[in-house]
Amino acid sequence: MYPSKFDYLAPTTLDEALGVLAAKGPAIKVLAGGQSLVPMMKLRLANPPALLDINRLPGLDFIEDSNGHLRIGALVRHNDVVKSDAVKTANHTVAAAAPWVSDPIVRNLGTVCGSLAHHDPEGDWASVMLATGAEVVLKSTQGERVLPITDFCVDMFQTLCRPDELVTEVRVKKHSARGGGDYQKLERKVGDYATVGVATSIELDEHGRIASAGIALTSVYAHNLKVADAEILLKGKQPSAELFQEAGAIAGAACDPADDHRGSAAYKRHVVGVFTERGLTRSLEIAQGGQS
Ligand SMILES: Cc1cc2nc3c(=O)[nH]c(=O)nc-3n(C[C@H](O)[C@H](O)[C@H](O)COP(=O)(O)OP(=O)(O)OC[C@H]3O[C@@H](n4cnc5c(N)ncnc54)[C@H](O)[C@@H]3O)c2cc1C
Repeated sequence: MYPSKFDYLAPTTLDEALGVLAAKGPAIKVLAGGQSLVPMMKLRLANPPALLDINRLPGLDFIEDSNGHLRIGALVRHNDVVKSDAVKTANHTVAAAAPWVSDPIVRNLGTVCGSLAHHDPEGDWASVMLATGAEVVLKSTQGERVLPITDFCVDMFQTLCRPDELVTEVRVKKHSARGGGDYQKLERKVGDYATVGVATSIELDEHGRIASAGIALTSVYAHNLKVADAEILLKGKQPSAELFQEAGAIAGAACDPADDHRGSAAYKRHVVGVFTERGLTRSLEIAQGGQS
């Protein structure tokens, strides 16, 4: 099916783009990689009267290591993250997740910030950001807002991004030398959305105890799910296989997967538990100086 008729605007400066968003609000949709929006338009699930193509805006394709953060700009494609050396050293959860996002064609076009703005519960990036404690930067003609990812992500396909705002970057906390992270994903075949995805992150203190931990789940709840109870359990504890098993059990109990063609709810819940344990174990290996 062809999309409904729409107007097309492709500004070449950020100010111009924000001016258009301020003037048109909900009557225009941002087009980034188009890897979620265009399929929805073709199915007529989305019928925006106008599109604001941001692909010609300069200076939004940066991946930068700055002030304890890894900054990922609005025009950074999934594949840019796969190839980035800065990402490999700055955040192990981001580095582990990037190659799992879809297939090479989608990875060449789709953007990290677009995925966060779309907030599909089957999207991998929101789980990564929830596990690592990221912040989302939003700009409008009114100025800039920086929101913790936990505030930004509201519900399935809902975020706090206003119609007059553009997500200009996501800031991910860098792992320290005593930090590690991982992303475990089960998919039916290469390029599929996750049947189950689990993002993990660990920071150790100077005594080898867990100073902080992050766990978030993909495709097993109405939205990407941060497993705060398991994170609290881990904090301050000496890491052990038993502790990680307990965290896995909490994650398995917290999710609410659907029975579908990809597996039963019970199977997916089991995988969440196993992947949480595996992800934490891998994150710990990296934090303890194993290879990244
Ligand atoms: C076949 C296929 C398989 C896929 N598999 C996976 C997968 O395994 N894992 C996964 O995570 N994703 C997967 N995706 C989705 C893909 O990652 C998309 O790229 C991503 O979800 C959206 O990013 P985009 O840049 O393409 O955004 P678009 O499609 O351009 O936009 C999506 C939505 O976000 C809004 N938006 C985009 N950028 C901004 C911004 N900067 N500020 C404000 N609003 C914005 C748009 O207005 C729109 O509502 C798949 C897609 C396809 C087609």
